[in-house]
Amino acid sequence: MAATEAGRCRHDKPIGVCLREHVRALVPPARPRSGADRDCPVCHTALSINIGNKGQRFVWDCAKHCDPSAVRGELQALGADAVCLGNYGSTDWVRRDAENKRKQVKSSGQVAPSTLEAERKYYVIEKLYGREFESVALLKVCLRAVIESDGNVSPDPEHLLPRDYRELAALARRAGVERCYSYKFARWWLKQLAEVRA
Ligand SMILES: [Zn+2]
Ligand SMILES: [Zn+2]
Repeated sequence: MAATEAGRCRHDKPIGVCLREHVRALVPPARPRSGADRDCPVCHTALSINIGNKGQRFVWDCAKHCDPSAVRGELQALGADAVCLGNYGSTDWVRRDAENKRKQVKSSGQVAPSTLEAERKYYVIEKLYGREFESVALLKVCLRAVIESDGNVSPDPEHLLPRDYRELAALARRAGVERCYSYKFARWWLKQLAEVRA
């Protein structure tokens, strides 16, 4: 992973071209003829996507500062390659972000509301990692559900995931599950639930 952070992406493009062609080009511009700003796929204000520093391949931020992981989910749903995007907003990044905030709390003695939310998410994610999962897709979708929540959610997939077929399929797509498989996944999971309760 480290080798791809700054160098050529796995489609063998230099980082600037990768940013333009493999990321920005997938997102509609914020305004007609806008150069760099894209339309934030979460809140539809102007989103800038840039080359990151501090070990991030790319970073993004919109005018309303949407959760980086929510934006990442939408970028992946639009077809962005997870490796081209780098680590920003990924499950791993959320974990490390929570850890960093935890360290900041220790040194400053103050707890910001965003830290409490990150802590709650971190706790649920830890619980999820301790479970057995029938499929990788199920784990991915559960992680996505936690990331998009405020952290006040159950680590039990039965209570964590939406019961609505379309909602669940859309969540699966944001989790990086391919479109055709996302519907299959939603059918499969809702059937599992029905069988458990029968
Ligand atoms: Zn690329
Ligand atoms: Zn936004």
